Amino acid sequence: MQLTPAILPSLIDAVNAVIEANAEQVTALDQAIGDGDHVTNLQRGIHALTAQQGDLEQLDWPAVCQKIGMILMSSVGGASGSLYGTFFVTMGKAARERQMNQQGWAEVVSQGVESVKQRGKADVGEKTMLDVLVPAADYLQRAAAETVALPEVLQGLCQVAEQGAESTRDMQATKGRASFLGERSIGHLDAGAKTAQLMLCAITQVLAERLASPA
Ligand code: ADP
Ligand code: MG
Repeated sequence: MQLTPAILPSLIDAVNAVIEANAEQVTALDQAIGDGDHVTNLQRGIHALTAQQGDLEQLDWPAVCQKIGMILMSSVGGASGSLYGTFFVTMGKAARERQMNQQGWAEVVSQGVESVKQRGKADVGEKTMLDVLVPAADYLQRAAAETVALPEVLQGLCQVAEQGAESTRDMQATKGRASFLGERSIGHLDAGAKTAQLMLCAITQVLAERLASPA
């Protein structure tokens, strides 16, 4: 599959729809152990991307990632704004040095996730979006090394993300606002991990559909 930025409007639409459909549930999660604004933060970013999707789809992948990062940094706010902003800006830089095939994407995503770790001074096991992003990036790297076929990779990626989000339920938060609650953070999913999973699964679904019936 030749993946060009022409697919962006479909991806942004799918992300918008899945966050909209799960807004109440995720807001309840962020109200339980955060400040309840995570969905509105993300939606500001998604709407800003929708407004600029016509410009975005004219660019090449490195420029697309860079621009998405800048848009998210200036629109999202909250911890997730700077973290997703950093993620995409770093992917933009990494994409400049690579051919964007399956291996290239795996490396670019991994570098993006690495920059989120550094920016948030966090890692897996701290009840954050990294509990989804890190296993997802590791899975992509493994799948590329083993040359797993793309439909299987897309399905596997969503499953890994679901497991990652679910893994946050029994964790005690040690980063972000939820960490202020100490042990009382245990027993709730992390809102940022849940939205990372929802967005990732929405993206893999669009890609899988496109793969099955190329436009
Ligand atoms: P804020 O916490 O500033 O209100 P959001 O509500 O938009 O920002 O985002 C909260 C989410 O950000 C959390 O659920 C968590 O997944 C993620 N998060 C918070 N701090 C960190 C961090 N240091 N590293 C990685 N992710 C983090
Ligand atoms: Mg919040």
